Amino acid sequence: MIKRIWILTLFPEMFKPFLECGISGAAFRGERSEDTKFELHFVNIRDYSQTKYKSVDDSPYGGGPGMVMRADILRDALVKGVQEAGGYQSLEKLHVVYTSPRGKVWSNKEARNFGMNILGTGNKDVVFIAGRYEGIDERFLTKYVNDFYSIGDYVLTGGELAIMTMLDSAVRFVPGILGNKLSSEYDSFEDGLIEFPQYTKPREFEGMDVPAILLEGHHKKITEWQHEEKIAMTKKWRPDLIKE
Ligand code: SAH
Repeated sequence: MIKRIWILTLFPEMFKPFLECGISGAAFRGERSEDTKFELHFVNIRDYSQTKYKSVDDSPYGGGPGMVMRADILRDALVKGVQEAGGYQSLEKLHVVYTSPRGKVWSNKEARNFGMNILGTGNKDVVFIAGRYEGIDERFLTKYVNDFYSIGDYVLTGGELAIMTMLDSAVRFVPGILGNKLSSEYDSFEDGLIEFPQYTKPREFEGMDVPAILLEGHHKKITEWQHEEKIAMTKKWRPDLIKE
């Protein structure tokens, strides 16, 4: 299945290093696919400004600091821009996501749900909109946005990093993307705990040895040890995750 993703942004160049590096870069370049092949497109919102100096924002009605992105320009970037960059059948077939502090707070649970059900399956293509300035005119959001996500309770200067964070964490749950399919199951949060400590070569580092149990090759004992360590690590580092 081909899953198309559009990103509406004023700074498409911010995504370049993301697409050039690592496993998620390869995935979104369309190079890693088993069940899902990604096709990523960018729409530069500025290309849809009709104003003399290609501005996309204006001062807010009612006064106040900062500038607000115009609803008509965002609408054109979505309706015309997505059509011009790859094309869509109907707006109803697009899942439009806006990153915003008002949105549902992103977490491993949201990443898994988005990765499996929106990126991995589902018959809709996905549009992400990155806000800038003070955000976007409310009327555009009301009419065109289906889903709002926040990556945390702090304010970024733009939605681009939030989109990359969402894509990078969600793609790990898209079937066939991770080389070792099991590895996302073992990662932090999957069972409500963080990961056990990991060791590799050298066996001795600055006077510290690798825990002996890991060298004995007794698989069942290792698994038990890893589980105990997960609990101990969670108690030490993230006690808030353990509800007692
Ligand atoms: N005035 C807005 C903040 C605008 S920040 C407010 O007070 O809520 C500019 C843009 O950055 C936003 O339009 C949004 O797309 C993005 N952004 C800022 N913080 C974010 C967060 N925590 N999660 C996701 N996107 C965020």
